[in-house]
Amino acid sequence: MPIRVMPHELSSQIAAGEVVERPASVVKELVENALDAGASRIQIRVEGGGQRLIEVTDDGQGIPAAELMLALQRHATSKLSRVEDLAQIRTLGFRGEALAAMSSVARLSLVSRPPDSQAGARLLADAGHTGEVETIGAPQGTSVRVDELFYNIPARRKFLKNEMTERRHINNLVARYALAYPLVSFSLEIEGRSMLQTSGSGDRREALAALYDAGVARRMLEVDASGEEIVVQGFISPLDLTRGSRSELTFFVNGRWVQDQSLTAAVLQAYRGMLMVGRYPLVVLFIQVPTELVDVNVHPTKAEVRFADRERVFSAVQRAIRRALLAYSPLPLLELVQPGLAWRPFTAPKETPPSGEDAETEQEPAAEIPRQASLPGSGVPLLRLLGQVGTTYLVAEGPDGLYLVDQHAAHERVLFERFQAQGGRVGSQALLEPAIVQLNPAQSEMLQEQLATLAELGFEIEPFGPHTYKLRAIPSLLIGSDSESALRAVVEDFEEDETPLEKETQARLVARICKRAAVKAGQTLGVDEQRQLLRDLEACAAPRTCPHGRPTMIHLSIELLEKQFGRRGAR
Ligand code: ADP
Ligand code: MG
Repeated sequence: MPIRVMPHELSSQIAAGEVVERPASVVKELVENALDAGASRIQIRVEGGGQRLIEVTDDGQGIPAAELMLALQRHATSKLSRVEDLAQIRTLGFRGEALAAMSSVARLSLVSRPPDSQAGARLLADAGHTGEVETIGAPQGTSVRVDELFYNIPARRKFLKNEMTERRHINNLVARYALAYPLVSFSLEIEGRSMLQTSGSGDRREALAALYDAGVARRMLEVDASGEEIVVQGFISPLDLTRGSRSELTFFVNGRWVQDQSLTAAVLQAYRGMLMVGRYPLVVLFIQVPTELVDVNVHPTKAEVRFADRERVFSAVQRAIRRALLAYSPLPLLELVQPGLAWRPFTAPKETPPSGEDAETEQEPAAEIPRQASLPGSGVPLLRLLGQVGTTYLVAEGPDGLYLVDQHAAHERVLFERFQAQGGRVGSQALLEPAIVQLNPAQSEMLQEQLATLAELGFEIEPFGPHTYKLRAIPSLLIGSDSESALRAVVEDFEEDETPLEKETQARLVARICKRAAVKAGQTLGVDEQRQLLRDLEACAAPRTCPHGRPTMIHLSIELLEKQFGRRGAR
């Protein structure tokens, strides 16, 4: 085929693919336009997971009727006119692509009235074909309605995630923008239900509660390192509030939601040594940098920026977080570090032992434990309990050395295998007093979708008002633990999961429930309980890790001990 310039329709659809990837990206572009227009109120309505309808209405400065046509044209923008402007961008948009892109992959309606116009104007477009501007009555501001997204691009439609996932993305997106712009009142309605409503009073905690839930929102620590050239504000979680993935690290740079490796690294370094391996904080940071020190024109969807001085931003963020953590915790950081440290062998000094003390002659005969004591297939030998350390670790002796067993991880493993042994069927136990659990809208939605699975696991849950549930029964394994937090833990798990309806969900849910039901670190156990735990662990098929893959035990072999004490190989 000879080289040809593409027909306009084709090139605009290809270009649209970059800007409008999924329903949430439509919402993002429309919300950003409303913010750029100086709106003080933004209303968002979503149906069919955003594929059927997305409508964003604002009370901003509007578009003059004479410019409506241009607004739908590619590379037409009111935000930038000269090359030099690119270095000083203060608006979220500047490429003039979003409306053009949407109008080529959906049916679009644009209605607008600037404050000084008597009447409003409307322009319709359908898969790239634009109609005529009509005069109609309209309130001040702009309303953009996108119907049947991707209806003319079946290939793209096929790759969309299910509606629930899209709804979750939209909810998370709007909640984050509401958080970033506390002086703007946001309302989000999905499938006719109100998911979020902020007053625009400047109180960020309102939106925080929509993003997480009221309980989490209350616990988040405030970061406020302003007054410097780089301003860092926002919220971070205390050390005992974590997630299993980095998905809850959110950064806004000059009002723009971005992903950035160095910001992520700065946060994780500030928390370094204070969180368990594989756990991550919840962080929402708003960073202000002088506009000439960031390049925002480096990414197709503007999801990344480039800093002129990365190091400075990095250390400003790290310092701000450290300060917030220290202000919150009066404990010296070192003490907080201890629980996260892995056991590291002490390196024996190279000198010969002091004279007069012959190590060899002091050696007791090794305690007589039969070498064949390992249970067939069990993976751990029979263990003799020696005691408990720090009300967290069991100390035991095996035929081949010393074992330190993490009581929580070990119990998790035991419960998990017990669950599995029941063939996935789980006993249920009614609560004497039903618990009322209030969730945030997104969590509530996820819970709705999982009610059947949860019922199989022994949770009996009834809707009880908006985003509120009555918990009537819980899995028998959880009796004695806090039933509300058990349910919350399960819901959190959905949130961390991109595709919660996959098959493995049940196994993961079970693991999550076991985690809740297991004895905690710091819990005193009677000697009999300690012994029983060791017996149960020995009987497990995979005793060396908890269901989440962390080790249940550390083994210090006789050989290692001898080396460390300089009895072997040191001379
Ligand atoms: P960009 O935001 O990059 O300029 P868009 O395609 O998103 O490109 O919008 C094109 C133009 O339409 C904007 O530059 C702006 O002038 C106008 N516009 C879009 N949405 C709004 C709105 N909600 N309020 C006022 N003007 C708008
Ligand atoms: Mg725009």
